[in-house]
Amino acid sequence: MTIYLDNNATTAIAPEVLEVMQPFFTNEYFNPSSMYAAAQPVRNAVENAREYIAGVIGAAQASELIFTACATESCNAAIFGAIRANPNRRHIITSAVEHPAVLETCKELEHQGFDISYIGVDRQGSINLGDFVRSIRKDTLLAAVMHVNNETGVVFPIERLARVVKETDPAILFFCDATQSMTKLPINLNGVFRNVDMLAFSGHKFHAPKGIGGLYIRRGTRCRTFLIGGHQEFGKRGGTENVPYIVGMSKAIELAAATHNEDAEQMKRLRNKLEDAFLQQIPNVEINGRGAERMPNTLNVAVHYIEGEGILYQLSELGICASSGSACTSGSLEPSHVLSAMGVPFTAKHGSIRFSLSRYTSEAEIDTVITEFPKIVARLRLLSPYWDQANNKPRSALPVITR
Ligand code: PLP
Repeated sequence: MTIYLDNNATTAIAPEVLEVMQPFFTNEYFNPSSMYAAAQPVRNAVENAREYIAGVIGAAQASELIFTACATESCNAAIFGAIRANPNRRHIITSAVEHPAVLETCKELEHQGFDISYIGVDRQGSINLGDFVRSIRKDTLLAAVMHVNNETGVVFPIERLARVVKETDPAILFFCDATQSMTKLPINLNGVFRNVDMLAFSGHKFHAPKGIGGLYIRRGTRCRTFLIGGHQEFGKRGGTENVPYIVGMSKAIELAAATHNEDAEQMKRLRNKLEDAFLQQIPNVEINGRGAERMPNTLNVAVHYIEGEGILYQLSELGICASSGSACTSGSLEPSHVLSAMGVPFTAKHGSIRFSLSRYTSEAEIDTVITEFPKIVARLRLLSPYWDQANNKPRSALPVITR
């Protein structure tokens, strides 16, 4: 039995998505750029998907949307494309809590001599608006800010940030990494997001396969081609289009749109149930980002005095998939840069666990976690010297191992 609560990492492919992809792996395998009649339906499938997705996000023209391999590519294409097209400006604004797709790209640019302002967040994970505004300079070329944080689910006020950038200097480009919010929160590039020039997303976060993403580039935006090659994607991204995945991503967006409100309600109810149970049943826990506007599917719980890896291991033994805030699994013992930026204390940021729900998450699954999680925490705290210290208890003797 698997209880999958790591949907901010990736999601299960919806059966309906798999179904519409199938013909493009078999009979409809033609290259969409080929001129013969057999390729026409394939080309049509790509363009229909583009038109549909562009319409959902409020793009004025379908050609403003290009397909990429993932959000990481979209973020790189937006940032490197912007700096190549604007060589006279050398300053970029971003937040300290971006995904590595943006943060590491900015660090690389810092090595190349660019000046980067990393805007901090408060204890709830909300971006410091004053610092953001004050960081805008005459040589700022780009502001790159995520819509929703992947670790905490905290929503950033993209409308305000993009508006202030454009009111200060319309020549500054605004890029938004919407990887976590796409299909979960409204995105309207013709309305609330009208000051956003570029926007990235990724299919595998909303029940399409891994390996397909999108990048919106508003018409007229100064952004050079990142992946240079053939003339695909209006010359903005070389490489033969991944037709089955494009068709699948479009279907996934259609499915999400059909049930968006009910899904959001359901996820929020279950997330809150889990959150309330933790707060009631476990001493010394807090919810990271609770005081900020949050996406309905995300719960980041800080369990003081124990290690996230220990919790994850014990959850995993029960078939429960979640993720830890720390980067230990990637071979580093550094705690999460997001929780560090929020000022989460040492004893909690090492024990932070993220549960992220999807529309497939059931109440029975949440109830199982409510039963098991407090038991895991209690067991691990028995072994924790920090917990003993916090409770002024002398360290209990370690069990004697006899042969
Ligand atoms: N941006 C955010 C906010 C993310 O959460 C992720 C993935 O976790 C990415 C970018 C990168 O997405 P991809 O795996 O499609 O490259």
